[in-house]
Amino acid sequence: SQLTKEDLKKKIQDLNIEFIRLQFTDVFGAMKSVSVTSDELDSAMAGELMFDGSSIDGFARVEESDQVLIPDTSTFNVMPWRPSDKGVASLVCDVYNPDGTPFEGCPRNILKSALKECQDMGYRFNVGPEGEFFLFHTDEKGRPVFDIHDTAGYFDLAPYDMGEDARRNIILTMKKMGFKIEASHHEVAPGQHEIDFKYDEALRTADNWMTFKDIVKNVANNFGLYATFLPKPFSSENGNAMHCNQSLYTNGSNAFYDPNNKENKLSDIAYYYIGGLLNHAKGMTLISNPIINSYKRLLPGYEAPTTVAWSTKNRTTLVRVPASRGKSTRVELRNPDPIANPYLVFAVMLKAGLEGVKNKIKPPSEIEKNIFDMSSKERNKLHVDKLPRDLYEAIEEMEKDSLVKEALGEHVFNLFIKAKRKEWNDYARHVHKWEIDNYLAKY
Ligand code: GLN
Ligand code: MG
Ligand code: MG
Ligand code: MG
Repeated sequence: SQLTKEDLKKKIQDLNIEFIRLQFTDVFGAMKSVSVTSDELDSAMAGELMFDGSSIDGFARVEESDQVLIPDTSTFNVMPWRPSDKGVASLVCDVYNPDGTPFEGCPRNILKSALKECQDMGYRFNVGPEGEFFLFHTDEKGRPVFDIHDTAGYFDLAPYDMGEDARRNIILTMKKMGFKIEASHHEVAPGQHEIDFKYDEALRTADNWMTFKDIVKNVANNFGLYATFLPKPFSSENGNAMHCNQSLYTNGSNAFYDPNNKENKLSDIAYYYIGGLLNHAKGMTLISNPIINSYKRLLPGYEAPTTVAWSTKNRTTLVRVPASRGKSTRVELRNPDPIANPYLVFAVMLKAGLEGVKNKIKPPSEIEKNIFDMSSKERNKLHVDKLPRDLYEAIEEMEKDSLVKEALGEHVFNLFIKAKRKEWNDYARHVHKWEIDNYLAKY
């Protein structure tokens, strides 16, 4: 809940906090922060703390670069990995223009406007993400080396090792910071872990996700390991996903659940929501899978989706409806990866789902067969479209999607496309190691 300035000051004093990290997220999903001492809290709360927005990726232009951080006091949290004497706390902030208007490039503001629409339609939007990451060894200088810490696989109890210890400590740290942990396990690939924390309202979850990643990185570092959320570090192993479990609630009950639907107890709202997600799946992919490497993950054979389809069982589809019903009835979107900006991902998927609900968009029939095994002829017959195959296709798809544009706003939409075109062009003009390995001796 929101704290008054007085509550906050008292807390800071009681907890012996000296530094407050004012945090926000840039357009491309990187967490940024500026530290103030507890004496400066008053001016921070009054919106007197200006910073140079032109130095932040995707923020202001140099000509009009002053921006203001306004802390959301309900996000106050203490960082347990920092010293407890003269400790460090964090506050997530919204970015405003000096004239007091919300900054259109602030991802948190963008999610808030999508949530406003959702609320006006009578719904609350819950999201529960699943967090996957790898733990790598580091060299003497603390830099990551391309070497993982174990050889275990899915649900394996790895022989006691550094990774186990680090994961245990990550979880304990998360709990200290108020997270409820649903599950944690070794993931499919060697060195890969998953931690799932309890779902919450989408804005809170996006804040939590950024905090979660910060904890994972810092704790791993304290164990001499490097945690990476890179979507696909190894060509022949599973990559890192950020599965997004989502549901709409209305008057305290789950709007996706309908006990009277004999077939699978899903409501019409759930079907329409899925219809909306599938309609915009291709246009949203640039946001949920924002880098060149993201598309190396979205290939057949590694439990990551490659096509636009849904199912109640099958894990090869983009959208899956997990088996639980009642309060936890939900839809799982499986393409997002963990380096995506969670505020923007949640905003576009919510807008897509809501459009489905508004326009009563019926999804095509569910696909029960393994899509990886289907021929393109079979897929065409079932109207199963392909997801963008690379960053280039994803850019082209997003440019065509006016709903994604509406969700992001002109500023972020244009900026994202421009930056991603540059990234693609840079990649495309490079001669890669694969080409030398495969072509040089041949031609
Ligand atoms: N790591 C897989 C992916 O890239 C997901 C594996 C799983 O959680 N079943 O999507
Ligand atoms: Mg999982
Ligand atoms: Mg997983
Ligand atoms: Mg999952």
